[in-house]
Amino acid sequence: MRTGPKGKPFLEWCAENGKRGERLANEFREELPTELTKASNYKAKWKCLKCKHVWRAEMNSRTKSERPKGCPKCAHNAPASKTKNFLAWCEKKGELGKKLSREYVDKDKPPTAVTYASHYRALWKCGRCSHEWRTRVADRTKSVRPTGCPECNPPGTNRYTKKRERVD
Ligand SMILES: [Zn+2]
Ligand SMILES: [Zn+2]
Repeated sequence: MRTGPKGKPFLEWCAENGKRGERLANEFREELPTELTKASNYKAKWKCLKCKHVWRAEMNSRTKSERPKGCPKCAHNAPASKTKNFLAWCEKKGELGKKLSREYVDKDKPPTAVTYASHYRALWKCGRCSHEWRTRVADRTKSVRPTGCPECNPPGTNRYTKKRERVD
């Protein structure tokens, strides 16, 4: 069990953090929370109180004070707001954000009406070859293997891996 420098037991931390702590304690799905600290790197199991989704995430990713992670499923479905939307996300992401906000050409939904984690299939226009295609916003913004223009990155190359979409 990792304790780390901030070795406060998870449950103790929960008790001191009001409604947020209460929610995390209720979403926690492990047997022995007393042995885990709030800053642990341990990937614990959580169950969302809202949508019942079960996922694993490091303890510290949920308890940290800056931009803690919540349920990934709820994040996909979250409505965009003034401060939480695709454009605001782009503005914080330097060159990558500039490129993505330039390539976002969807007319049905402005970039402020979707979130960076949205599953909405937006219309994009490649800055290099001008090809237009549709893909989920989340597929372009994810940190692991984001997708790019299918013309510039044809299937079979390493940079763009096209997978058949599963209908679920
Ligand atoms: Zn959820
Ligand atoms: Zn292209």
